[in-house]
Amino acid sequence: MKIMKFGGTSVGSPQRMNKVLELINADDTSKVVVLSALSGTTNALVNISNTIAEGDRKQAQQKIEALESHYRDFVQQLVQSENAKQKANAIVSEHFEFLNIILKISFSEALNKDILAQGELLSTKLFSVFLEEKEIAHVLLPALEFMSIDATGEPQIGSIKVKLSQLLQQHDTKKLFITQGYICRNAKGEVDNLKRGGSDYTASLIAAALNAEVCEIWTDISGLHNNDPRVVEKTIAVEHLSFDEAAELAYFGAKILHPACIWPARSYNVPVKLLNTMEPNAAGTTINQSALNIGVKAVAAKDGIIAIKIKSSRMLLAYGFLRKIFEVFEKYKTPIDMITTSEVAVSVTIDDSTYLHQILKELEPLGTVEIDTDQTIISIVGNEIAQSSDILEKIFTSLKSIQIRMVSYGGSNHNISLLISTNNKQKALQLINSGVFNL
Ligand code: ASP
Ligand code: MG
Repeated sequence: MKIMKFGGTSVGSPQRMNKVLELINADDTSKVVVLSALSGTTNALVNISNTIAEGDRKQAQQKIEALESHYRDFVQQLVQSENAKQKANAIVSEHFEFLNIILKISFSEALNKDILAQGELLSTKLFSVFLEEKEIAHVLLPALEFMSIDATGEPQIGSIKVKLSQLLQQHDTKKLFITQGYICRNAKGEVDNLKRGGSDYTASLIAAALNAEVCEIWTDISGLHNNDPRVVEKTIAVEHLSFDEAAELAYFGAKILHPACIWPARSYNVPVKLLNTMEPNAAGTTINQSALNIGVKAVAAKDGIIAIKIKSSRMLLAYGFLRKIFEVFEKYKTPIDMITTSEVAVSVTIDDSTYLHQILKELEPLGTVEIDTDQTIISIVGNEIAQSSDILEKIFTSLKSIQIRMVSYGGSNHNISLLISTNNKQKALQLINSGVFNL
């Protein structure tokens, strides 16, 4: 069994859906195909939902109409026969009628999740009609019947495994299954989701639940690159990463993969491949258990970071001080990314500013608190690089013209992280590209 996940741009036009079909048909292995919503749809739905929440129903209705007309055009080009057009249009009508009904009822968080789920429901159902027209045998598996999260938002892998296996057994002569990424049910049985970009997570959870041979993530770039191609001119695809390296890169800003998607694949030892729909023969990136070689693999940058420094002479020779600080962040469910300490001060970084005001208030009694906003974490990742003084020297020599606010080194063997001002990000990534990667 193989899992193939296609992102928003890979299903974003009828031409691209044809390309997906080619890729699915390339071999006859059994597969579960996970689809995102058409590109732009989830953003449009978030926008519609926010407009409804603000009470501006008229504007929400206009936005719903605009999105519906996009789908009508899409259907017109996607399928040829009258019968298929009718079926596809009926699906579009069903989902947009639902959105129009929502306009009339009072808004709630559960309703918001219902709205966000429409994108994946539409893309998979339309793709199924398209396959039917091409006479390709397949089964549409409703993710809402097997994908679930518990009360803390964690996927219930045991139950996903049982339910998914039962569903597949009902169709044991079939080899092609299509399902929705991103959407799931929560502990209350309501429609929910795995957070933005969550289709990768869906694919990896299914791969783990079915002990798949491989989990392929198809996007529009040939694998993970050594540096951010949007910021730096010359970048190269990284052919192999270990799960540890990939986890650090995904977490620290490499946009290609949802960070949570690593653990299910790692726990069930399913290799993940990052591949390009437009260049299917390119090697892409393979992520698996083994760390093939020592050395630097890639650099990633994560923006929107806030650094908080807590300075107190009471920290000198005291114990329990760090615990008090961490408790404040724990209370406000705000994860800390980087941390450095000296004998009299602690600096930490966060990327979620939802409770910043409350956090700062509670930190004040512990010492003098200073914050720096608009910071970027630059993470240089590679197997055992923290052991190599050579790499450290190259990093700091190439960045000598950049002011570095924090350095985190030795926390893991695969990562060296630096905090700099976002203004210097492009320059820093370029300098690392030439000084560390020789590109
Ligand atoms: N459609 C969802 C999003 O845009 C999930 C995904 O594409 O992975 O976030
Ligand atoms: Mg994505």
